[in-house]
Amino acid sequence: MARLVVDVPDHPTPGVVFKDITPLLADHDGFSAVTAALADLGRDAAGAFVDKVVGMEARGFILAAPVALALGTGFVPVRKPGKLPRETHEVAFSLEYGDATLQIHRDSITPGDRVLLVDDVLATGGTVAATRELVEACGGTCVGVAVLMELGFLGGRSKLGDLPVSAITTV
Ligand code: IMP
Repeated sequence: MARLVVDVPDHPTPGVVFKDITPLLADHDGFSAVTAALADLGRDAAGAFVDKVVGMEARGFILAAPVALALGTGFVPVRKPGKLPRETHEVAFSLEYGDATLQIHRDSITPGDRVLLVDDVLATGGTVAATRELVEACGGTCVGVAVLMELGFLGGRSKLGDLPVSAITTV
């Protein structure tokens, strides 16, 4: 997998080394292996069944949707502002490079749902922490996080308390 994730120095801002996963997505064997591994990690992290898999815009969608199918659940998108057409909950937070806001449809999670979060990269943890808040605002419970890659040196896990986080690879 490592050869299919390309380091791009100084993107999107100087000093950031961006992990580009698009070569991995373009490789059938790599994409399918990663999707299967995320489904396994998610199942383990959740400790039992999950009701919904949530993916964050935009690369999270690509991974979370096949994971949802593999786990026999529905997929829920968490999106940037202005994209979801109906009533939303909203959370603003800080990223590794800049600020961001995310939204979720209020009725996309049924109160009591057990929710697995899936994304490509866990960096500072801000995206996952914000998504957890959104799920909780809907009345759901986050039971696990599965990511392709964790940037361990940014300490994102520390923002997530006791939420089980699994990564296919950590750098
Ligand atoms: P965090 O909120 O700082 O943990 O950043 C994670 C979010 O930013 C994820 O949704 C990623 O898609 C994106 N991200 C941060 N760093 C990278 C990277 O190096 N490669 C790809 N995506 C990244």
